[in-house]
Amino acid sequence: MTTTTKYIFVTGGVSSSLGKGIIAASLAKLLQAQGYRTTIQKLDPYINVDPGTLNPYEHGECYVTDDGAETDLDLGHYERFLNVPTSQANNVTTGRIYQSVIEKERRGEFLGKTVQVIPHITDEIKHRIQILGKSGDYDIVITEIGGTVGDIESLPYVEAVRQLKWELGEHNAIVIHLTLVPYLSAAGELKTKPTQHSVKTLMESGVQADVLVCRTEHEISDSIRVKLARFCNVRKEAVIQSIDASTIYDVPNLMLEEGLDKVVLEQLQLASETPKLTVWNEFLTRHKNPKNEVVIGLIGKYVELQDSYKSILEAFIHAGAENEVKVKVESIHSEYLNADNIKLKLSHLDGVLVAPGFGERGIEGKIDAVKYVRENNIPFFGICLGMQMAVIEYSRNVLGLKDANSTEMDSETTNPVIDLMEEQKTITDKGGTMRLGAWSCDLMDNSIVSSVYGEETILERHRHRYEFNGTYKEAIEAAGMKATGLNPDTGLVEIVEIPEHPWFVGVQYHPEYKSTVANPHPLFVAFIKAALKHKNQK
Ligand code: GLN
Repeated sequence: MTTTTKYIFVTGGVSSSLGKGIIAASLAKLLQAQGYRTTIQKLDPYINVDPGTLNPYEHGECYVTDDGAETDLDLGHYERFLNVPTSQANNVTTGRIYQSVIEKERRGEFLGKTVQVIPHITDEIKHRIQILGKSGDYDIVITEIGGTVGDIESLPYVEAVRQLKWELGEHNAIVIHLTLVPYLSAAGELKTKPTQHSVKTLMESGVQADVLVCRTEHEISDSIRVKLARFCNVRKEAVIQSIDASTIYDVPNLMLEEGLDKVVLEQLQLASETPKLTVWNEFLTRHKNPKNEVVIGLIGKYVELQDSYKSILEAFIHAGAENEVKVKVESIHSEYLNADNIKLKLSHLDGVLVAPGFGERGIEGKIDAVKYVRENNIPFFGICLGMQMAVIEYSRNVLGLKDANSTEMDSETTNPVIDLMEEQKTITDKGGTMRLGAWSCDLMDNSIVSSVYGEETILERHRHRYEFNGTYKEAIEAAGMKATGLNPDTGLVEIVEIPEHPWFVGVQYHPEYKSTVANPHPLFVAFIKAALKHKNQK
């Protein structure tokens, strides 16, 4: 079989949470910076068809692509590192694999055969792995296999990798195995045994790792590298240390120092050169040498979990670097906010972001927060549910519609200023049925957004069922809150602003998904600039 696209599989062993996504994204960055068109894909072994139905407590944020896929948050890292959009094909779950195979079976496509894990499920996995490669858009496809080798759930994936490695041939597909080399402080030593066992487990499934990436808290000595190479059948240069970093954005440079890109390209028989990382390193310099600091309140209900608002936190890092400002994010639990403690909790902040979310829990606290920042001229940025809360707050406290609400929270309200979208009213299934993906939006002249974007029409990603109720548009605008972004086809209100306020912007979409190192999102950049201005005026 001839092939032009090269495949790199990233598996994990010993423990979960070793950061396979960051290693994959860092390697991709190094390959991209040498001119290779590179993409990354994540295969998740769980049975949900996509992570859209998962609570953020389970797997963190659900990341949304332009084509409307609800995906694993690792895809966010891929986009932030590579500055190339991902799509439905970049995230596949066991649920989706089985769904396709079962649908084919129902259509009679297996011609009376017994449908089995091997070959039918593994064939479907191999097909999904090669969709991106066969598109002709990429020289290299990196496939991250979720979970840990040895898990029952991962077995069909590891088997598909074994088959593909064989079918694609030597130098066309390689396996990078990420493991943990723990430090035993009582012995004062780094231990290689868990890695040896993990590589052995992979071999039991017929897969030999070509490169080992070893997560560690301490420098791995030469003798340990030799030992790992000997026990695991890899060359010494293919034992790569991945030491704890202060920021994920350091990892590409750390991998470059270790020569991960070189080893990989050599094994794929591709030429290597020095990666061009100018833009990346300029960002790092600005990120690490801030000239000022702003404190932003992030108001949400999943604040105890770093991963729940991953893209927002990363967008702050990009926007901070752009402004040469350190963005200190204070996570504030909206459930515990009320009119009595709001001043204590918010008055010192330079800006407030009210987060996206679903359901009733904690929303009154969000509304109190909007009221406080509106009345006290603190820069406000509302995203999705945050924008909806801003509309409710304005309707209640400025228009005097005391029971204004979203029908998501109170289906009986007499003033549904936020209401279920028309096309949502007949939908009963929960999975993949929200208003998803990129939709266009026309920006009004003389608004904050038109000057921030410098464009008349924008494309931003959505994930919601409820919307600004157009019936109230005239009254709300007359009272002072303006609809400054509208969907050109439906007239749906996508953006609201308050012109009398120094910086008050609510957006129905999720700008955080599109912020990358190379392209910090203009709204986040402008919000941080406004926060800095607010701080300097205090
Ligand atoms: N729950 C709201 C809706 O469905 C907001 C969703 C969000 O914040 N992503 O419209």
